[in-house]
Amino acid sequence: MPSVEPAVRISAPYKFVSREFRHSKTEITVRGVTIGGSEFVVMAGPCSVENERQILESAEIVARGGAKFLRGGAFKPRTSPYDFQGLEEEGLKLLDKARKATGLGIVTEVMSDRDVDLVASYADILQIGARNMQNFALLKTLGKCGRPVLLKRGMSSTVKELLMSAEYVVAHGNPQVILCERGIRTFETVTRNTCDIAAIAALNELTHLPVILDPSHATGKRSLVPALARAGVAIGADGLIVEMHPHPEKAISDGAQSLDPVQFAKMMADLAPYIDLWKQDRVTESAVAV
Ligand code: PEP
Ligand code: MN
Repeated sequence: MPSVEPAVRISAPYKFVSREFRHSKTEITVRGVTIGGSEFVVMAGPCSVENERQILESAEIVARGGAKFLRGGAFKPRTSPYDFQGLEEEGLKLLDKARKATGLGIVTEVMSDRDVDLVASYADILQIGARNMQNFALLKTLGKCGRPVLLKRGMSSTVKELLMSAEYVVAHGNPQVILCERGIRTFETVTRNTCDIAAIAALNELTHLPVILDPSHATGKRSLVPALARAGVAIGADGLIVEMHPHPEKAISDGAQSLDPVQFAKMMADLAPYIDLWKQDRVTESAVAV
């Protein structure tokens, strides 16, 4: 028809998030920091927001190391109902305090569609945990939340299912989705999960959305986190989300996989030359894309 400008055939079932739909990478800018662009973005902080001192200290430490976002759960998805469930709104207020003190953006989990408005009123990026990747009511609500979404891969989900979940958010009105590989369940027990590192390269072929790596949940062991983080840079992830606690031995959740302040600073310094190579690669890639 003369009134139709282009017609694009998209064979993938995930239409909006497919590379066939959009060839150039989606860039998501939050508080002046662009994810999916020419910067390798690190998000870091404790598993859970525990108290004011812990989160303010964490924020200072990760900002000093070069992170651009502070992570920390105020709503925690715990396997046991008897474990710490998070400080909820009180935790969100503490994250806001940490943002004001450091200028870091805030990324924090939302577990229920009921809480989306509340969490969106404090957070810069809404994290959807592995256990909620296919909570379709939540995904639909995120379409209208007005904030970028960090969607973590479900622990038994395929790459295609991850993309279909991202499609829910985009199809419901929110194009700002960041994907996260955080390890999947396999027969292996040496690590908490098995990092599907190749999924990052595969996702970069299949989708234009930014993809980051969580080396903390992917391994469950702090000694393995820096090596896996390096692999994430090398394979072309757009960034990392890493657990760091000022005193991991006292952490209420995920202490075993949390770096301490010295280890975090060392990891960031050690990553620098790899990030320089990553940047050179990005320049070449975007030139080819144009
Ligand atoms: C977390 O980031 O602390 C978390 C609970 O992660 P995941 O949903 O990947 O298990
Ligand atoms: Mn955790």
